[in-house]
Amino acid sequence: MLADPAPSTLADRWRQRDLAVLWHPCTQMREHPDTLPLVPIARGEGPWLIDHDGKHYLDAVSSWWTNLFGHAQPRIGAAIARQATQLEQVMLAGFSHEPAVALAERLLAIAPRQAGRAPLAKVFYADNGSAGVEVALKMAFHYFRNRGEHHRTRFVALENGYHGETLGALSVGDIPLYRRVYAPLLTEALFAPSPDAYLAEPGQSAVQRAHQAADALATLFDQHPGEICAVILEPRLQCAGGMRMHDPVYLQRARELCDANGAFLIADEIATGFGRTGTMFACEQAGVMPDLLCLSKGLTGGFLPLSAVLATQALYDAFLDESRERAFLHSHSYTGNPLACAAALATLDIFASEDVIARNRGTAEVMARLAAPFNDHRHVADVRQAGMVVAFELTRNGDKRTPFPAEARVGLHAYTAALKRGVVLRPLGNVLYWMPPYCVEDQHLDLLAQTTLAAIEEAVACV
Ligand SMILES: *Cc1c(COP(=O)(O)O)cnc(C)c1O
Repeated sequence: MLADPAPSTLADRWRQRDLAVLWHPCTQMREHPDTLPLVPIARGEGPWLIDHDGKHYLDAVSSWWTNLFGHAQPRIGAAIARQATQLEQVMLAGFSHEPAVALAERLLAIAPRQAGRAPLAKVFYADNGSAGVEVALKMAFHYFRNRGEHHRTRFVALENGYHGETLGALSVGDIPLYRRVYAPLLTEALFAPSPDAYLAEPGQSAVQRAHQAADALATLFDQHPGEICAVILEPRLQCAGGMRMHDPVYLQRARELCDANGAFLIADEIATGFGRTGTMFACEQAGVMPDLLCLSKGLTGGFLPLSAVLATQALYDAFLDESRERAFLHSHSYTGNPLACAAALATLDIFASEDVIARNRGTAEVMARLAAPFNDHRHVADVRQAGMVVAFELTRNGDKRTPFPAEARVGLHAYTAALKRGVVLRPLGNVLYWMPPYCVEDQHLDLLAQTTLAAIEEAVACV
C-alpha cells in the first residue's frame, strides 16, 4: 500500500485546506486548481504579494483596485493598531466617535466642488461599495417620497456600467455575466448608451461620441418626464465594464440634464476615487459636483472595508421631520467602524503629506511611455489611459471589428501566463489593464510591460 505522496510545498498544503472549505468570489470553483491557479499569499510588501514559498507577485491590479500605497503600508497599519487599543467598535446610532467625525470632515473638505452649487455637506457610512450604492439609490428615491413626488421612482444607469453585486446595485449594473441569472429579481432601471470612446464610429471623436450619448440621455429624460429620480454613473472610467473611458464633457452634459429635469446625479467613484484617474476624484476633470458621491475601495488605502456616501445639505434636509418614516433608517451593524475610519484617516494623511497626485503624474508618464509600443501590436485594437490606469483591448486582428470570442478565454490564458512570470494581471474579458499601487517604481513597471507582452503572445498562441 502506498500513501498519498506528500504535498510538495507549503503552498500546496494551503491549497488543499482552502479548497476543502472555501467558496471563492467571482469564481467557477470547478476551475480550481487545474484551469485556474489558486495562489495562497503569506504576506504583502509594497507592490508585492508573496506566497508561502517566497515567490513574489507584482500586484498590477491593486488587489481589485483597493490598494493605494502598497501592501502592509506601515503608517496605515500603525493607525489601525493604535485605534484597536482605543475603541474597536461602537454603534453609530446614538453614539459618535472621533475617527468617524474627523473622516467626514476631511472627506467633505476634499470632495469635488462646482461653482454656483452648495458643496456636499453630509457623510453616511456603509461597509463596502455595493452597500454604499444601495444607500445612494435609497436616499435619492426616499428624497422624492418625502417631497411628495411619488412618481419619481426610476433610475437611469449607463450601458456597460457596474455598481456592485447586491440586488439593488446589480439592478443598475449592465454587465450580463453578473446580471443575467438574477434578472428576475432586479428592479427595472433605464439604461442610457455609454459615452465609451471605444464605441465611437470610424471618424467620430471621443468628444463627439460623448455628445451623442448625452443626446440619447436627453431623449430618455424626455420619454420619462417626471419619473426619473437619479442618474448613476462611473465618471470618466467604466472599470468592471473593461476599463472603458469617456470624455469628461459627458459628465457636464449629464449634470446639466439632471438639473434641467429635477433628477439627482449619483457619481460612483468607488473605483475612480482617490487619485486613480489622475485627479483626486474623476468628477474634477469635468468640473462637476454630483448630488451623491459614493466612495469605497481606496478609501482605506485598501486595508479595511468601508464606504462613504456624501450628500448635499438640500438632500439631507428633506429627511428632517417628526416622523420616523421620513428618516433614513438604513443601517449596518458596523456603520462607521472606528478601525476602518482610522485607516481612511491615515490614507488621507499620506495624500496630504506626500503630494501623491503629483508623484502619480510622473508614474503615469512612465506608464504611457511603456504602453505606447502596444499600439503597434498585431492583436491590440486600443491602448487607453486615464491617470494610473492603462488598458489594452485585445482582438484577433488588432482592429475593433474582430473581437476574440469569449470561449477562446484569451484573458484567462493571459492571466495564467503572467502569473507564472510573477505578475498579477487579472483581465476583464479580453481587456488587459494596469492599475498598480501608487508605490510602483520604474523597474516594477518595466517588469509589468515585459510580462504583458509575453502574456499576450502566450495567450493568443492558445487560440
Ligand atoms: C467595486 C465597485 C463597486 C462595488 O464595491 P464592492 O466593495 O465590491 O461591493 C461599485 N461600484 C464600482 C464602480 C466598483 O468598481
